[in-house]
Amino acid sequence: MRVLVLGAGFGGLELTSTLSEVLGDDVEVTLIDRGEGFVFGFSKLDVMFGRTVAERVVHPYRDIVKPGVTFVQTTIRSIDPTARRVETDAGPFEGDVMVVALGADLHPDATPGLVEGGNEFYTVAGAFALRDTLANFGGGRVVVAVTSTPFKCPPAPSETALLVHDFLSARGLRENSEISLVMPLPVPIPPSPAASAALLEAFRERSISWHPNQLVRELDPARKTAVFTDGTEMPYDLFLGVPAHRVPTVVAESGMCVDGWIPVNPHTLETSFPDVYAVGDVTSVGTPKAGVFAEGQALVVAAALIAKVRNETPTVTYDGTGICYLEFGHGQIAKVEVTFLSGQAPAGALQGPSIDFAGDKSAFGTSRIQRWFGRKWSLA
Ligand SMILES: Cc1cc2nc3c(=O)[nH]c(=O)nc-3n(C[C@H](O)[C@H](O)[C@H](O)COP(=O)(O)OP(=O)(O)OC[C@H]3O[C@@H](n4cnc5c(N)ncnc54)[C@H](O)[C@@H]3O)c2cc1C
Repeated sequence: MRVLVLGAGFGGLELTSTLSEVLGDDVEVTLIDRGEGFVFGFSKLDVMFGRTVAERVVHPYRDIVKPGVTFVQTTIRSIDPTARRVETDAGPFEGDVMVVALGADLHPDATPGLVEGGNEFYTVAGAFALRDTLANFGGGRVVVAVTSTPFKCPPAPSETALLVHDFLSARGLRENSEISLVMPLPVPIPPSPAASAALLEAFRERSISWHPNQLVRELDPARKTAVFTDGTEMPYDLFLGVPAHRVPTVVAESGMCVDGWIPVNPHTLETSFPDVYAVGDVTSVGTPKAGVFAEGQALVVAAALIAKVRNETPTVTYDGTGICYLEFGHGQIAKVEVTFLSGQAPAGALQGPSIDFAGDKSAFGTSRIQRWFGRKWSLA
């Protein structure tokens, strides 16, 4: 069976690794990505706050050496879901099965004034550039804000506000600074009341002002002012934004999207096109846009494809569960286990925050790099 995997992010890497581990050379996987390497979302924050350097957190795709797998670094220019065929800068590719795992593209330019007058910390380039911006910041009004929905990793803006607090405190700049967090949600993590309460308490203790149910719709760079959707204005010296998310253009043009994202069967991740699946941020499956969910969905698709190769009936269906590690600063990590079962209210249990979970978070990263790239890595 020839499997065409589009995108080597969380979903594509997990799918490819599982197929190779179980089927070896009995499957022919072509994995395509335009990037040179993979970067964890949390590594963006580590680089931005000067806790590590860029070279340590980019995992080069050239390290992927797995039975049955060919990695091709190229840009996909068009997708034909009926023929399960793509056109790329390296020529056409087709599969008996195609899995779209192309994630969400980020558009800082969709928010007027953001590129000219602010910063964003969600792209690799934006987060890495902020390392110098933060190092040269002398204190003042810091605004961490979301500009559009949906956005990936809903806890990341809260973690960023807490880490800004630590960063400024360590440099003796906290007393002449203010930190505000602007989010489109009523509480920081809606499926987990306990995690939301712990975060709101952490904001209160650190005098971080919390602005729920709001988006920043534009910046006025001349006046260094952020404008909310309801017209409220907030002056800033340093603006750290979450930019607008959209499917990559090549996905939008493929005819696979409804209301901007690829709809899938929430139990099987099948699209409406035969033998075409979609996993992760590119879908509207109903879980938050986060790596753990992309990975869980990839495992369900892998089980279906393994069953297909073995002429068995697939038995695994997607259960919408994921574990998220929430950083409170000073090495304090909380563990939130969330479940998004279709038809039921989402639920999330909290453990911590505690330094005891730092090891769990570290193992989350290092175990994946070992599995996906076959090499050792440490987060520090
Ligand atoms: C600051 C931050 C912190 C985060 N922290 C966490 C966390 O702690 N835990 C967690 O679970 N999630 C976290 N996330 C979210 C997580 O990074 C994403 O949700 C996850 O990567 C989505 O996986 P995916 O496979 O759907 O897409 P991605 O991992 O985004 O992969 C998509 C791939 O497709 C490729 N691609 C796109 N278009 C093309 C094209 N035309 N041609 C070729 N290749 C293309 C891209 O290069 C990319 O490699 C965080 C995100 C951010 C920004």
